[in-house]
Amino acid sequence: MDMQQKLRQKVVEKGREILATNLTIGTWGNISCKVPGEDNILITPSGMSYDILKPEDIVSLDREGKIISGIRKPSIEVPLHLAIYMARKDIQAIIHTHSAYATAMAAARREIPGAVEDLVQIVGGNVRVNEYALPGTEQLGISAVKALEGRNAVLLANHGMLGAGRDLEEALKVCQVVEKTAQITLLAQLVGGVVELSQEDINGMRNFYLRGYGQDN
Ligand code: 13P
Ligand code: ZN
Repeated sequence: MDMQQKLRQKVVEKGREILATNLTIGTWGNISCKVPGEDNILITPSGMSYDILKPEDIVSLDREGKIISGIRKPSIEVPLHLAIYMARKDIQAIIHTHSAYATAMAAARREIPGAVEDLVQIVGGNVRVNEYALPGTEQLGISAVKALEGRNAVLLANHGMLGAGRDLEEALKVCQVVEKTAQITLLAQLVGGVVELSQEDINGMRNFYLRGYGQDN
């Protein structure tokens, strides 16, 4: 199996995972990744149920969004994904979900503060809310890139969330940690609200996550 075929399979698997773990419901959300060594991007088709997706349903695009291969219409959020890949060379995979707690924060247009250690390690700090823009628009891409600066996640106002990473596994982990932290943030309101970590501690933990956490090989 060549690299592109393996990645198509991985995108399909991540789709099943976001559906099975309630990170999204129905056909909403979308998933993309870059093909290493190429300019191409693989993205989920628009409005198709994740549980019936097959590798050949995943659409391959060039960096301008032109379809290279695939019989399906790509996600309406192609401009959002392309804007992020264009602005952020460190990002190789993106998962956009409509998970409940993150969307509660996004609907209230409240950021998720940097107050939980795994969040700041994997995201790089607080999760900001973008300036509202309609789904599927170029403007959504522009405002999401702005709110994503120096972070791996963004809350999309009145819409959902987006997690990014160096590969699909990391992007999924970002979505899971953001969703969990949104829930924690709301729960903590019952006992007086969260206490934010200092910028120095956030920087230290982010560096540890990037350079020292986990096994060496
Ligand atoms: P697509 O099904 O076209 O990917 O759109 C879903 C969505 O979440 C739009 O923001
Ligand atoms: Zn969406």
